[in-house]
Amino acid sequence: MFDIIKSIFYEFLSEFVPEHLTYEITGECKKCGKCCNYMYSVDTYTEKEFKIMQMIFPSYKRFYIKGKDEFGNLIFACKLVTPEGLCSDYKHRPRMCRKYPAKKINFPGKLHEGCGYTVHIKNFEDYLQNKPQDL
Ligand code: SF4
Ligand code: SF4
Repeated sequence: MFDIIKSIFYEFLSEFVPEHLTYEITGECKKCGKCCNYMYSVDTYTEKEFKIMQMIFPSYKRFYIKGKDEFGNLIFACKLVTPEGLCSDYKHRPRMCRKYPAKKINFPGKLHEGCGYTVHIKNFEDYLQNKPQDL
């Protein structure tokens, strides 16, 4: 229980961390469904925390734990993605889905292979030269 309070507290603190890099996202969704079938969480690290988060945020009930990666991180998937990779609840999809790929927390995480979006990191020199730097 203490861990989840700590996670929420750090999540809250992260709102006040000034961003040192700027991300630019280009491209568009190819509707492959990979991001709905394989995702990580920034605030849920254990099965117990996931159950608590589902109680606090009912929209989390659409997700389930699919497994763990080689480092032991939980991998989540959504129950509402169709076999064709489309969202069966598109109109009511959560904010995180609407904002994906979100600039603030998702990067420098990687997009799925073949994703239609590209993320460019821009530093001060890139702005001077007007040059995007791909992730
Ligand atoms: S992985 Fe990328 S292209 Fe595929 S559904 Fe998600 S956002 Fe769209
Ligand atoms: S709610 Fe829809 S868009 Fe969001 S993860 Fe589930 S299937 Fe994908």
